[in-house]
Amino acid sequence: MILILNENTDVNSPDYAQLLKRLRQLPGIQVKAHRIEGSLRAVTEIYLIGDTKQLSVEDMRALPLVERVVRVSEEYRVLGRHKDDHRPAGFDYQGLHFGQDSLHIFAGLCAVDVREHVEAMCRALRDHGLQCTRMGAYKPRTSPYSFQGHGRACLNDVFEIAGKYGIRVIAMEVTHEAHVDEIREALQETGSPTGVMLQIGTRNTQNFELLKAVGRQKEFPVLIKRGFGITLDESLNAAEYLASEGNHRVVFGLRGMKTNMGDPHRNFVDFAHVPVVRRLTRMPVCIDPSHSVGARTAGPEGILDVFHVTAQGVVAGANMILVDFHPNPAKALVDGPQALHLSELPLFIEDVSIAREAYLKRSELARRYAATPAEA
Ligand code: PEP
Ligand code: MN
Repeated sequence: MILILNENTDVNSPDYAQLLKRLRQLPGIQVKAHRIEGSLRAVTEIYLIGDTKQLSVEDMRALPLVERVVRVSEEYRVLGRHKDDHRPAGFDYQGLHFGQDSLHIFAGLCAVDVREHVEAMCRALRDHGLQCTRMGAYKPRTSPYSFQGHGRACLNDVFEIAGKYGIRVIAMEVTHEAHVDEIREALQETGSPTGVMLQIGTRNTQNFELLKAVGRQKEFPVLIKRGFGITLDESLNAAEYLASEGNHRVVFGLRGMKTNMGDPHRNFVDFAHVPVVRRLTRMPVCIDPSHSVGARTAGPEGILDVFHVTAQGVVAGANMILVDFHPNPAKALVDGPQALHLSELPLFIEDVSIAREAYLKRSELARRYAATPAEA
């Protein structure tokens, strides 16, 4: 059960202390308070965990400071979409809104290699009006002998260059909690010219200690990728780990499943789950067409498979696209074969906007149809 307190409740007030004291006396109930600092207002939510069936919604609503009460199912308590749950979805970061109604393109390098490539990438993004990118510094690789990413050594340069071209958010994978400190330190050293959305990769979806550590910090939002060999439910629970530790600014990423049933694609594309995740949870949903498809193959009409699956995800309501580009894919140190060329960026943006328009029209059609009384 979640108690949503009156807007701007003072957590240092005697009333608040009194409320907590009362709740803590409830038998078999654990009390956890979460404070969500929005750009316009602060919201305090109190989670009652345990045998809440004995509690009535009316009794809880009658308590001082309590504005609304939501009885949640056991599933995805914080991030899930529950009955009569009108809590706002999504979050603001770096002046951008990330919700189930927005769409952001994060085009960029799978892995940072040389300064010139970071600069060429960011310049192209700025020239085409994009403000988000992806830049891998810590790369989880199958072979220990493969390039592992430049790590901390490249961060100051990446942040400075991104800031120079007006990039506001960089999606960047972390594979260890120490990487979060390194990112924070590099941002401080460079005067925070940009922001970072921490990425939990598919290989770490169930690295619970990493999830807890990344969930404990609230400075950076988190993109968590679906685990490539586990169920959707297990991956959504992994996202819930982040939220249960306090960080509610979570985006859920679909990136394909590991099975040879998807051949000849690198992974079996799972973008049919975009509406499923949007229905089960309040998280914005990201698609990663590059790691799903893994190649520059094209349909007979000449449209690349990466474009096709992107359109499929966007037509189904995706809110974020993480996509590999490279100024010189032949020289990329990681995943060159799946990277799009900078010259293809305007084409990609236009193709995405066609799909987005189709999604908006489809949503409008569904709304209209639902509003029409059924014929007898
Ligand atoms: C990536 O986005 O660079 C990446 C490694 O993705 P995934 O964790 O989905 O394989
Ligand atoms: Mn990659």
